[in-house]
Amino acid sequence: MFRIGCHISASGGYEAMGHRIDALGGNTFAFFTRNPRGGAAKDIDPEDVKRFLAFCKEKDIDRLVAHAPYTLNPCAEKENVRQFALTAFADDLQRMEYTPGQYYNFHPGSHVGQGTDVGIEKIAEVLNTVMFPDMTTTVLLETMAGKGSEVGGRFEELRAIIDRVKLSDRLGVCFDTCHVWDGGYDVVNDLDGVLAEFDRIVGLDRIKAVHLNNSLNDTDSHKDRHAKLTEGRMPLEAVKRFVTHPVLEKLPFILETPNDEAGYAAEIALVRELHG
Ligand code: FE
Ligand code: FE
Ligand code: ZN
Repeated sequence: MFRIGCHISASGGYEAMGHRIDALGGNTFAFFTRNPRGGAAKDIDPEDVKRFLAFCKEKDIDRLVAHAPYTLNPCAEKENVRQFALTAFADDLQRMEYTPGQYYNFHPGSHVGQGTDVGIEKIAEVLNTVMFPDMTTTVLLETMAGKGSEVGGRFEELRAIIDRVKLSDRLGVCFDTCHVWDGGYDVVNDLDGVLAEFDRIVGLDRIKAVHLNNSLNDTDSHKDRHAKLTEGRMPLEAVKRFVTHPVLEKLPFILETPNDEAGYAAEIALVRELHG
């Protein structure tokens, strides 16, 4: 089953999200577990979740690719920022259990001058604190553009984090096409080569979801500015290769392109057409 969807607003709760993605023509989606800039999460209503799960079953909507808030930085130097990362991450993983077996994606973090090695250690420490043995959620490390002091812009860094996590069987990767491209991997001219490199370093079976974005900038720019599928530096043929690639096409594709709802509906339709 080919799965395409987008980032949608979490307002109104779970059932509202189900209806929202269905109206856009999607069958998978991403949402922020709390305000993307941080803050408290709303209480979950178990009845709302029950109706949502029934709706997903009826409409064959599968894979919630929840996104942690941007302010969640597991390798922050400031103690209060790192404390927020621990608290919000742990709380989010508890909340994810209302919808068992889904994905929770996060940005590994920015080391803000402490160095990549220290960043990797701190990120692994947070994961080893918040992950718990009977969790059903798979935590996804997002591939990053390597902007500023971001950790996770190199496949080796993702590998190093995974190697340090005890419950690494509950750990996967979300492959963001804009980030990987901006990070210096030429997925336009050599997607197979990039995936072979990923396989050698991390393992292709770790990729659980794709953030399908175009980029405003050239490869190796380390900028992380998303573009609409038809408006970025990657030609549409490259986008088509993402969604038809034998390894990737089985995964949920999530659009994080600068669009309103009508724009998302149009891009979802476009991707379905590209996939064929
Ligand atoms: Fe992200
Ligand atoms: Fe992303
Ligand atoms: Zn991004």
